[in-house]
Amino acid sequence: MQKKSVRDIELTGKRVLTRVDFNVPLSGKDPDEVIFVTDDTRINAAIPTINFLLDQGSSIILCSHLGRPKSAADLQFSMNPVSARLEQLLGRPVIKLDEVVGEKATAEAARLQPGQIILLENTRFLPGETTNDPELAGRLAELADIYVNDAFGSAHRAHASTEGAARAMRAKGGPSVAGLLMMKEIKALSQAVSRPEHPYIAILGGAKISDKIVLIESLLKVADKILIGGGMANTFIKAQGHEIGKSLVEEEAIPEAVRLLESASDKIMLPVDAIIAGEAAAAAEAAEVVVSAIPADKMILDIGLVTVQRFSGALQGAKLVVWNGPMGVFEIEQFAAGTKALATVLAGLAGQGTTVIVGGGDSAAAVSQAGLAEKMSHVSTCGGASLEFLEGRSLPGIEALDEK
Ligand code: ADP
Ligand code: MG
Repeated sequence: MQKKSVRDIELTGKRVLTRVDFNVPLSGKDPDEVIFVTDDTRINAAIPTINFLLDQGSSIILCSHLGRPKSAADLQFSMNPVSARLEQLLGRPVIKLDEVVGEKATAEAARLQPGQIILLENTRFLPGETTNDPELAGRLAELADIYVNDAFGSAHRAHASTEGAARAMRAKGGPSVAGLLMMKEIKALSQAVSRPEHPYIAILGGAKISDKIVLIESLLKVADKILIGGGMANTFIKAQGHEIGKSLVEEEAIPEAVRLLESASDKIMLPVDAIIAGEAAAAAEAAEVVVSAIPADKMILDIGLVTVQRFSGALQGAKLVVWNGPMGVFEIEQFAAGTKALATVLAGLAGQGTTVIVGGGDSAAAVSQAGLAEKMSHVSTCGGASLEFLEGRSLPGIEALDEK
């Protein structure tokens, strides 16, 4: 399944509806105050595709969702701050419209000249976005000659501006293709799905096991080993029969954890020691103990040193490593050591030729925080989409694009 990209089609003089991921963090919630973008990573990530389209002589109509507004009255989720930041980053004007579709959008799109850029309002201001309303998708497609999806992070959802608009563009005879960022994500993550290199080692962490049981099961089929840390390891540690005190645990997932341990004990590697404290706080007094000695009034907040060494040992010689989920509560300095140590080991392996793919919003943040993002082979900030991709599922936003 090879999808067409912006490199495969004629773009000169065309109007290109481009779905980007401008779902960025904002400074505040009060629409009467000046709201600004606090992290422009995702806006920056869309620039290569925007510049590519402009270089080819296209005009661009950008759209994205932002946050979870209930309606168009939720002005705190307006794209205005995004427009301001985008203008700065591009060094050219952006025509920001106050609607997603409508008379104004139709008129502005019709008079758009090559080199000009429109940014539509938050697609989730309209209820038809998340219900994938064919009428909304059709009206979006009507604005342009070509549809480009560069929002990998939203590709796992069949919404009007993703799946719907791609189909609507095809229905009116226009191409629906992937943007450069979308292609980059697909290419990197595909290495772990179609014929991965071995030894292939997966590392899973983060808060919840229930989010990731399907992922564990699909990884068990393709990976040679799965190293599990973070909050999700607690449920496994309890399933092994240890007391875990006040640690984050998902009781209802214990039977599943027991079953996974019985069927794949040779592949699953769990923490043997942990950093514990009375609470997840910077001021809490921390200690390092083996997992069989967690006091009843303490909780596991990071993997211990012996575990880091064992995980590091298991990773040596790997050809491919996929990592999702921090090993501890990395947001607090004294529980960030395990995650940092692992990131350092992975950066070293990547330097020696191992393909290291990091996926997930918090995992990407942890790797950036450690200053190691550039050292990895690929870092995807798209949590849900990258996990579903790694589970081997087809994502509707990608599925709907034209085949090569
Ligand atoms: P990602 O966004 O990379 O997919 P998740 O959202 O699944 O990762 O998990 C990240 C969260 O997991 C972080 O907020 C981190 O504090 C939390 N976490 C990691 N280890 C623990 C733990 N032992 N106890 C509680 N929370 C944890
Ligand atoms: Mg997360």
